[in-house]
Amino acid sequence: MSSIFTKIVKGEIPSYKIAEDKKHFAFLDINPAAKGHTLCIPKKEVDYLFDLEPDELAALTQFSQKVAMGIDKALKPIRTGVIVEGLEVPHAHIHLIPIYKESQAFSLGKKVELTKDEMKKLADQISQNITL
Ligand code: AMP
Repeated sequence: MSSIFTKIVKGEIPSYKIAEDKKHFAFLDINPAAKGHTLCIPKKEVDYLFDLEPDELAALTQFSQKVAMGIDKALKPIRTGVIVEGLEVPHAHIHLIPIYKESQAFSLGKKVELTKDEMKKLADQISQNITL
């Protein structure tokens, strides 16, 4: 059975899409730890990030860098942090979480409430600032 993230890539489940290339996809986390919290995934369905081949991991990292640069340009956080966990969804992903204040708790446990309109606007803003 396909992972929920593969269903997102295929358009079977809606997402706030940020960017896509041949092998990668980025979209907003539906339960964000901060405004603009984004997930970057390989389209290839692999559970554990470090089971990717070295060149695949490098390519995902490079894709995530371009997405992070777009987040930084669009939302102007102090910087964008990175978390890799993967305990909930068995499809490798990199969390990109903008940090707006030095005192901001940096954890997947902290959530912010955003409306659908706010999510859509954030996705558009980030998306427009990404050069792949
Ligand atoms: P983890 O596997 O612990 O790294 O976390 C998985 C992340 O995926 C969580 O932050 C969820 O909020 C997020 N997530 C789960 N389902 C969706 C979805 N349909 N769209 C966007 N994000 C999702």
